[in-house]
Amino acid sequence: MEQTHGANSVTCCQRIDANVPTRSPFTRIVATGWYGGPTHGIAQCGVCAREFLFSLCAWDANADTRILRLRAVSTGTLASLTDRFRCAGAPIWPLWVPAVQESGACAAVIQDAMSDTEALAEEEGLLVQSTDFQNQIHAARNIDAAALLDGLPTTVGERASFNEWAAVLRRR
Ligand SMILES: [Zn+2]
Repeated sequence: MEQTHGANSVTCCQRIDANVPTRSPFTRIVATGWYGGPTHGIAQCGVCAREFLFSLCAWDANADTRILRLRAVSTGTLASLTDRFRCAGAPIWPLWVPAVQESGACAAVIQDAMSDTEALAEEEGLLVQSTDFQNQIHAARNIDAAALLDGLPTTVGERASFNEWAAVLRRR
């Protein structure tokens, strides 16, 4: 059980302050992309149980501080995906990186499943800044209909776009 009170309490993904580093509420992460840390996958908040598809938007010059976009997916997505990924073995929590051969049948299963998830994910969700997504979040912002109306940067995965995404995080 996650503690929700006291010194070790975890702040829900919906309540992370923009400026105060906080322990990551994401207690279940399946990383289908990895580059010195999770770059793509599914994450579930241990407090509210919301599930998100996440992907890397940008990183700083050292690929150290990252900004991830989290798009809401329906409850049960994580369970259904780990079931579909059983060709890669049993999941390990809090962080599972399914280890598969890049061109093998299981990699294709995972890729198909993530494309399906991608197609169903909401545009709404969160933007998160972190150096260590599974352990600590430095800043977060809800991406709601109004935030989407303001527009999000169109460049992803490029170092040059870090400042653009960081500006969205700071925008209120
Ligand atoms: Zn939450």
